[in-house]
Amino acid sequence: MLNNYGFDLTGKVAVVTGGGGVLGSYFCKALAKVGAKIAVVDLSEASAQKIADEVIEEGGTALGVASNVLDIDNLKEAKAIIESELGEIDILINGAGGNHPNGTTDDEFYSVDANKQDPDVKTFFDLDPKGIGFVMDLNVMGTILPAQVFGESMAKREGATIINVSSMNAFTPLTKIPAYSGAKAAISNFTQWLATYMSKVGVRVNAIAPGFLITTQNEKLLKNEEGDYTLRAEKILNATPMGRFGEPEELVGAVLFLADARLSSFVTGVVVPVDGGFSSYSGV
Ligand code: NAD
Repeated sequence: MLNNYGFDLTGKVAVVTGGGGVLGSYFCKALAKVGAKIAVVDLSEASAQKIADEVIEEGGTALGVASNVLDIDNLKEAKAIIESELGEIDILINGAGGNHPNGTTDDEFYSVDANKQDPDVKTFFDLDPKGIGFVMDLNVMGTILPAQVFGESMAKREGATIINVSSMNAFTPLTKIPAYSGAKAAISNFTQWLATYMSKVGVRVNAIAPGFLITTQNEKLLKNEEGDYTLRAEKILNATPMGRFGEPEELVGAVLFLADARLSSFVTGVVVPVDGGFSSYSGV
C-alpha cells in the first residue's frame, strides 16, 4: 500500500525520445525530479546532451544519446548504450514527432474560384507525397519503432510503461494539417492496440493529447508582431472552454501519473487530453 500519493520513480530508467525538444525536455526534467534516471534520446546530439546536462545540473541522473527514431538499427545501438550506462529500461516516452510545412495546406477550405485567382495557394491537391510521408513516418513509425526496440525487454520489468504523445488533431482534425492529424489519430489507435497486446505481460501503454500551448516554435503563428493573438489563435481560444493556452508544465502531471505504476496501475489504453476542455466542447 502507498504511504502517500506523491510521485516516486526512484531507480526507474526512462527513455524520452525527442527529449531534446520543447516538451520532451520538460518530461525529462520532471521524471528526473521524482527519481528516474533519464536517457535523453534525440536526433540532435547537441540537444540531447544539453538537456542531459541540465538534468544533471539540477541534481538528476541523465545520459544524452543521439539516435533516429526512424532507424531501427540505430535505436538498437542506443538501447545497448542506455542499458550499459543506466540499466534496464522501465519507461518509454515517445516524444519525438511534429508537423512539417510540406504536409500542410495554405487553404482551410477548397475553393475552385479562389485557386484560379491565386495559383500560389498550396491546396491539398498540390501537397508533395514526400511531405505527407515525412510527417506520417516521423509520428507513426517514430512511435512504433521505439516501442518495438524498447518494449520487448520492458515486458520483464515490473511497472513498465509506454507513453505516447497524441494531439487534439487525433480527435477531430484541424484545418490545413491532414498528414499531422492522420498521424496523431494513428498514434491514438496504436496506443490502444499496444495496450491490449502488452496487457498480459504487465506493460501499460497510454498517451497524452496536449491541447494548445504557446511555445517558441508556434509563437509566430499565434501572435503577431505586436504580440496580439492572430485569427487562428482567437479561434483556438474560442474553442477552449478554459479560455487560455496551456503551458508545457501543465502536461507534466499527466505524464508522471501515467508513468508511476503505483498511481495508475489499472490505467492502460487511454489517451488523456490536457487541453483546457478543447476536446469536450462542440463550440455551441
Ligand atoms: P520539438 O520539435 O520541440 O521536439 C521534437 C524533438 O524531436 C526535437 O528535439 C527533434 O530534434 C526530435 N526529433 C525530430 N526527429 C527525430 C528523429 N527522427 N529521431 C529522434 N528525434 C527526433 O516538438 P515539441 O513541441 O516538443 O513536440 C513534442 C511532441 O509533442 C511531438 O510529438 C508533437 O507532435 C507533440 N505535440 C506538441 C504540441 C505543442 O504544442 N508543442 C501539441 C500537441 C502535440
